[in-house]
Amino acid sequence: MIGFDLTPEQKSLQEKARQFAIDVILPVAAQHDRDGTFPLDLMEKAHQEGFFTPLVPKEYGGQGLGVLDTCIFSEELAAGCMGIYVSIFVSTLALFPIIKFGTEEQKERFLRPFCSRFSIASYCLSEVMGGSDPASMRTTAVLDGDHYVLNGTKMWITNGGYADFYLVFATTDPGKRHKGIICLIVPSNLEGVSHGEPIDKMGQRASNTTAVTFNHVRVPRDNLLGGEGDGFKKAMAALDITRPMIAIGAVGIARSAMELATQYAKKRIQFGVPIAQHQAIQFLLADMSKDIEAARLLVYKAAWLADQGVKNSKEAAMAKAFASDVAMRVTTDAVQIYGGMGYTKWHPVEKLMRDAKAIQIYEGTAQIMRLIIARQMLQEVERTF
Ligand SMILES: Cc1cc2nc3c(=O)[nH]c(=O)nc-3n(C[C@H](O)[C@H](O)[C@H](O)COP(=O)(O)OP(=O)(O)OC[C@H]3O[C@@H](n4cnc5c(N)ncnc54)[C@H](O)[C@@H]3O)c2cc1C
Repeated sequence: MIGFDLTPEQKSLQEKARQFAIDVILPVAAQHDRDGTFPLDLMEKAHQEGFFTPLVPKEYGGQGLGVLDTCIFSEELAAGCMGIYVSIFVSTLALFPIIKFGTEEQKERFLRPFCSRFSIASYCLSEVMGGSDPASMRTTAVLDGDHYVLNGTKMWITNGGYADFYLVFATTDPGKRHKGIICLIVPSNLEGVSHGEPIDKMGQRASNTTAVTFNHVRVPRDNLLGGEGDGFKKAMAALDITRPMIAIGAVGIARSAMELATQYAKKRIQFGVPIAQHQAIQFLLADMSKDIEAARLLVYKAAWLADQGVKNSKEAAMAKAFASDVAMRVTTDAVQIYGGMGYTKWHPVEKLMRDAKAIQIYEGTAQIMRLIIARQMLQEVERTF
């Protein structure tokens, strides 16, 4: 049987996050977007509410939630501000490989303190020369006694400069490409770790994005997650779990844009009637409504599969590709419905449009999502009859 009802616990999570978005995120979102500043106080409040640690098991002090539960509350935070939501979310991206692949000792050393006091984590995969193709990375890790010596620069790192630790992917042998990659937990206070200035972005400006450089950083061998050569698989496994969480962010943005556009269309009078009475505007609104609903359902399915422990690479890519395209289309149409007003900073829809664009780029671009979908469907799809 298929059911779409939320459990009482999911409803209460949703309500808690919605209230947080209304009380804490919305009042400051426009200002952080304008100034490009990082809301550190807000992050601390979000950590206290448990939004940083949804997937961490309760035994380590986390929330012990599933991926679907996390998506349900995350839509509310993203509807408040995607830049703020993604800054909260990235810790889950960095923590998930430790939850899934860490030793008991590593979980005690990194997860428990992370949950018990305000902490931030970052995920360092991308480089200037290796975005869509991370196997071409140039950051190296060379074993020297009980330490790896880490050298290189990671690019586009969300929460760079604020993280207590970085989950860093590096190569022990560039010639081996993805088979040479390892995953290291790198505390940010180790000598040789530094970060660049915040990157001046088009959207999601409340999130802090920087380069992070590792200059002869000696990382204890105990901080190696898993074995040598299986880091790439860990990076991809994390993305299968977190892509639905980014996709639901796109749903949150699109929902906000649809609500604002609907409200505006009911009030704005042209040719003697509210523009919502013109069929052309109704069709734009109807498309928004149906596409958001479809995107949410794809996300819920990808998240549900993850919770069942079923491989969901294709479904996660479908959800991410579809939802991010929906967010871009819906926010662009929301600007259209606002007319000239939509093209100004006087109304929030232009921010939503700028924020939506990044979701087609990070956590795997729109094109890379389609490559993942095509690779699998070409193997699976046969004539049914
Ligand atoms: C705001 C923001 C936050 C980010 N946060 C993080 C973070 O916290 N951690 C992290 O590790 N990374 C992060 N990233 C990096 C992000 O994941 C990369 O930008 C993304 O993977 C794309 O890489 P790229 O920018 O190098 O583009 P490229 O890989 O150079 O791609 C350029 C274009 O070519 C296309 N393309 C590339 N290869 C193919 C192909 N085989 N077939 C078809 N088209 C292709 C792409 O789709 C894209 O349109 C962030 C990026 C942004 C913008």
